[in-house]
Amino acid sequence: MKIGIIGAGLAGLSCAITLEKHGYDVDVFERRGMVGDRFVIAEAMFSMFQYPFDDGVKLLSETYDIHLKPSSNIQKLFCYSKNERCEMEGHLGFTNMRGKHPEAYEKQLADQFKGTIHYNYDASYDQIAKQYTHVVLATGDPSDSMKLQPFDTAFRASFKGAVITGSFDESEAHAFFDNDFAPKGMAYLLPHSDHEASLVLVYPQYPENEGLDKEVLWKKCVEECSKKLDQDFEILNEYEVKDYRIGKTESSRIGNTFFIGNCWGAITPVFGFGQFESMLTGIYAAHDIIGIGNYEKLVQPLYQGYHDSLTLRRRVEGLDNKQLDRLIKMLQNKYVEELITNKNINIFKWSAKILHPFSRKA
Ligand SMILES: Cc1cc2nc3c(=O)[nH]c(=O)nc-3n(C[C@H](O)[C@H](O)[C@H](O)COP(=O)(O)OP(=O)(O)OC[C@H]3O[C@@H](n4cnc5c(N)ncnc54)[C@H](O)[C@@H]3O)c2cc1C
Repeated sequence: MKIGIIGAGLAGLSCAITLEKHGYDVDVFERRGMVGDRFVIAEAMFSMFQYPFDDGVKLLSETYDIHLKPSSNIQKLFCYSKNERCEMEGHLGFTNMRGKHPEAYEKQLADQFKGTIHYNYDASYDQIAKQYTHVVLATGDPSDSMKLQPFDTAFRASFKGAVITGSFDESEAHAFFDNDFAPKGMAYLLPHSDHEASLVLVYPQYPENEGLDKEVLWKKCVEECSKKLDQDFEILNEYEVKDYRIGKTESSRIGNTFFIGNCWGAITPVFGFGQFESMLTGIYAAHDIIGIGNYEKLVQPLYQGYHDSLTLRRRVEGLDNKQLDRLIKMLQNKYVEELITNKNINIFKWSAKILHPFSRKA
């Protein structure tokens, strides 16, 4: 058996580490000169969206022997609409660094892989498929999957983000829902430290959003978020991402080609989380190759999660600012907060059931 993995991101590296732990040799190809060779950003993993797993970091460590050190625990999440604010408390999840940051998750994973990563190697699927019996597609880019099979695109997202300076509590995350600057989208702020954070604006590239001036939205976003936190942020490094495709493949595996991470459809559409799912798909594909699991069956709950999350997204993005105010107000209720943050409840499943009782099957 000869295994080639295209892409040394979260999914590809999780797959490589798992295969290596079981005694398999694997070749990993990475287009960039090092892992995480892109802008620095804080990302998050929220437990309430990972049902049935209550703690993703613990699960990866105790069940799969993959060890990650997050930047901080999120103990409070503040959600803002134009005129309302709610607060959720508890062990809500983690923030972690990505990209060029020395503690980036991709770097932490690369440190746990003893084999060789072939850097500066822009691998083509055709070429790797000729040389290897098993190919794992982990480029983080669904357009690579689309060359091999149908990919159902839910939407393409446009991001604008920056590292900002201010005064932050590392255990607090902030999410902003306001159509005036995040049309059908959101902005969020995740601290890196007590004086640095990532501020990100993301919205779908629907036809009605195409004519909007991103710079104008971004300026308003920075102003509004500063106001809500009663601060005057300084912008350090800005970056942009366009055409970030969110969707899912028709098949998780074709012959001995495995689609993992974003190449499979790891991003849950409602808030754009995909790190945990990417790592799981990498591990699951490895288990199939090793012969201790069936990839198609293992990813089925993740497909269902994707589908439920998309149902919720379609409903939330239809809300205007007044309705968003009402929603955030509703979340101020202690019982509602407890329901959402309860790790024994699958929040995507129940919201999808309520919104679309007859179309829950992925
Ligand atoms: C701005 C932004 C913010 C996000 N925030 C969050 C968040 O807060 N929480 C969360 O859970 N998720 C978040 N996500 C999503 C999350 O980052 C992804 O779901 C996850 O990184 C996907 O992992 P992956 O391994 O599939 O791809 P990646 O981690 O992107 O890795 C793909 C790798 O493949 C390499 N590659 C590409 N093409 C080739 C080729 N031809 N040959 C060799 N190598 C190649 C790339 O260089 C890269 O290293 C965010 C995404 C973005 C863009």
